[in-house]
Amino acid sequence: MIAENIQSIRTRIGAACRSAGRDPESVRLMAVSKTFDAAAIRTAVTAGQTVFGENYIQEAVDKIGALREYALEWHCIGPVQSNKTRLVAEHFGWVDSIDRLKIAQRLSEQRPAHLPALQLCIQVNVDGGVNKAGVAPNELLALARLVAQLPRLRLRGLMSIPEPAVDFPAAKAVHARARALFELLNADGLELDTLSIGMSADLEAAIHAGSTMVRVGTAIFGGRAAPSQTVTASRDDGVA
Ligand SMILES: *Cc1c(COP(=O)(O)O)cnc(C)c1O
Repeated sequence: MIAENIQSIRTRIGAACRSAGRDPESVRLMAVSKTFDAAAIRTAVTAGQTVFGENYIQEAVDKIGALREYALEWHCIGPVQSNKTRLVAEHFGWVDSIDRLKIAQRLSEQRPAHLPALQLCIQVNVDGGVNKAGVAPNELLALARLVAQLPRLRLRGLMSIPEPAVDFPAAKAVHARARALFELLNADGLELDTLSIGMSADLEAAIHAGSTMVRVGTAIFGGRAAPSQTVTASRDDGVA
């Protein structure tokens, strides 16, 4: 099933790119493998999938270790608390959910010298949900400028997770806000190449809005049981 699901998502990406007049190679597929085990990921790898997204740090570190034989691109897409930055810096290739300077600074300090720079995206809250992760659009430029200067990191782009939209035009409109911010940062000289917008339900609209990476979990791996860890808005700024 996993291989067929990946194929059908790739077909959707290709069709959306054609309809948007874009090169299908310009949109990457991230398979969101949170809560699924290494065997499921191995099946996806066999189907040609190389980019994976994980939300729960310890669970991800175990799987990254178990799948070390493959050259995979691992993205941390969940909230990163201060006491987890070292694990993230030591094991992931990307962190796509940066929304405060302090976490980026810790990742910069903790990225091991023998690894390539940690690739980052800033998560932006384009639709203003108060309890949502992501930096507010009016604070994005300042944060991006600071993050871009940190050693051992490379700022690559933006991620956003808007609320589900009612239809294609509404989804495209909300994703267009992320695209506009992406353009703004590039006009400021930041040289970003990654716009991670679009999930199973709205990937076509996101691709029309300029997505370069769509994130798909359940449509590849199936439904998830309860998460292995609770994701809350609580933050642990005091942890050294
Ligand atoms: C879980 C998750 C996804 C995938 O969601 P599905 O509903 O499983 O397709 C995409 N992006 C982020 C940030 C996620 O946490």
